[in-house]
Amino acid sequence: MHTGNSVKESLDLLATKWPVDQKLYDLQVGQRDDIVDAPVQVGGVIFHIPTLTRDNLFVLWKCLWPDCHNCCERQGRLPLTKDDIALLTKKLGYESKAEFVRNEAKISTWEQEGAGNVITTLSMLSLKRQKDERDEQDGTPLRCRFLDDKGYCGVHPDKPGVCWLYPFASWLESDRHGKPVVHATFQFTGDCPGFYLEKSLDGVMPVLQEYAKKIYDYNMAVSRTTRENYGFINFVK
Ligand code: SF4
Ligand code: SF4
Repeated sequence: MHTGNSVKESLDLLATKWPVDQKLYDLQVGQRDDIVDAPVQVGGVIFHIPTLTRDNLFVLWKCLWPDCHNCCERQGRLPLTKDDIALLTKKLGYESKAEFVRNEAKISTWEQEGAGNVITTLSMLSLKRQKDERDEQDGTPLRCRFLDDKGYCGVHPDKPGVCWLYPFASWLESDRHGKPVVHATFQFTGDCPGFYLEKSLDGVMPVLQEYAKKIYDYNMAVSRTTRENYGFINFVK
């Protein structure tokens, strides 16, 4: 998904279609200095929920689909796990994964910040969002070619794992016993109108319960993907 100073542009565009709470706007453009992380463990995932401490409010989320399909209209990147490749090869009617990759995928490379401010560079095969997608469009918002006029996805339910997880970002860490722990937080790209503020976490718990398994399984799939050389991770800092 796209990042950086485009967040403000994305939010300004979003605000032409949806009401955007000023506090949430300020948070997403980095204008709040009172954000504290409230960790909530659900299943094997630790969710990091931002809290606006001056207002004593949690930042929560629920998806507004089918009224909204903004994330598919402004897709930044669709990295593919090994499982995604197998499902999409079949869904799009290819005889082999190699043929699918040749026609429908390209290589994406991006940086991601993990634990202890370690910057990781990832390269993965990504599903082309446009048939004629160019390298310089990697990470910039494009309308996905599989989105139809009614907001339905043409490859659902075999869409890439990242489509199931948006707007969560997640990563894998080892605990002090070496056991894998998955962490998740919201990624604020400025494209999602589903965020809201509330004093209690109660309303978001069913959402976290629904997403915990998807997020956990997705991280295991990414780990298998890089281990089996379908993608690469390089630690650069
Ligand atoms: S942009 Fe947000 S609210 Fe809209 S469909 Fe995507 S996840 Fe749901
Ligand atoms: S593959 Fe489907 S869910 Fe994913 S961005 Fe495209 S239309 Fe949206």
